[in-house]
Amino acid sequence: MSKLDFILEELVTANRILANEGIVDSFGHVSARHPDKPDHYLLSRARAPERIERGDIVEYKLDGTAIDERGRVPYVERYIHGAIYEARPDVHAVVHNHSPSTIPFGVTGKKLKPLLHMCANIGHEVPVWDSQDKFGDTTLLVSDMAMGRDLAQSLGSRPSALMRGHGATVAGRTVRHAVFISVYLEMGAKLQMQAMQMGDVKFLTPGEVDQIIARVTDFPLNRAWENWARRAGREMQA
Ligand SMILES: [Zn+2]
Repeated sequence: MSKLDFILEELVTANRILANEGIVDSFGHVSARHPDKPDHYLLSRARAPERIERGDIVEYKLDGTAIDERGRVPYVERYIHGAIYEARPDVHAVVHNHSPSTIPFGVTGKKLKPLLHMCANIGHEVPVWDSQDKFGDTTLLVSDMAMGRDLAQSLGSRPSALMRGHGATVAGRTVRHAVFISVYLEMGAKLQMQAMQMGDVKFLTPGEVDQIIARVTDFPLNRAWENWARRAGREMQA
């Protein structure tokens, strides 16, 4: 199997997992950097993640121009992906979602931070990108490269960022890594809301976060991936 075939199958599985785990609904998307052309990426046509098949995946240049579109309508927000790949050579997969528990943290000024060891991968503190700051009143959708690049700047070198009144974006070193972070971003946000209702929260310390992140090798990522993939009706690729 070629590297490209592998990544295309990974993307189908990633879409099904994210839908099955409640991280995306009919909206939201996941992409991968092209394994042979680092200035291109792979992303489905505009379709609900749960329904995506291999033939839906289109190759794009970083500026969002499709290669061989063949009538497949693109996601308006594909610029999120290209802008992050442009800014971050270390990133090989991007997830954008409207993960429900993250939304309150984008609109209240309460900082989303990891309080559970499994959530360390969301980063020390999740920044909030507010499209209003630079672009004023918009639909809130990242609909051109200027907005994508501004979001990428807010993300910086971190694994995740929230988008005010809209959702979240996650950057990973592989498709499995980006999906892993996305699942635990939603879980961490839900737990933090519950914990805040009970009182003051003791978060992970920066040193704890760094130690946990250093231990997240392919082994735990694959363990989670196999389980989530099978639950979503897909087999894990070797
Ligand atoms: Zn969106």
